[in-house]
Amino acid sequence: MSETVFAKIIRKEIPVDIVYEDDVSLAFKDINPQAPVHILVIPKKSITKLEIVTEEDITLLGHLLLIVKKIAQEVGLDNGYRVVINNGNDGGQTVNHLHLHILGKRKMTWPPG
Ligand code: AMP
Repeated sequence: MSETVFAKIIRKEIPVDIVYEDDVSLAFKDINPQAPVHILVIPKKSITKLEIVTEEDITLLGHLLLIVKKIAQEVGLDNGYRVVINNGNDGGQTVNHLHLHILGKRKMTWPPG
């Protein structure tokens, strides 16, 4: 499978506005924000989508959610926010590297589009 833009972002070949980084994860502002706060949290490990995760990834996946919580607190999403994983074609995934969207500072609606 061809390399994604997120692989280049992880290697710092494409500049992004980094919000958080550690050994296993990276968070940065979405280039096309759908809310006043729109941040992507990604694993540095190359995981295309949820179908390929295994028990080996349990700690990493939990870590990503903890990072979501930490970032939400840091950017002041005290009134709630939405966390989205667009997974696969019907899920609307456009970049084949697992990512969690954090969307906040506006009222979200349901059902999503
Ligand atoms: P998805 O549609 O769930 O696969 O989300 C991919 C997201 O990546 C979209 O919200 C894009 O705006 C975002 N995106 C794509 N390229 C970049 C980039 N170079 N920097 C920041 N965000 C990006």
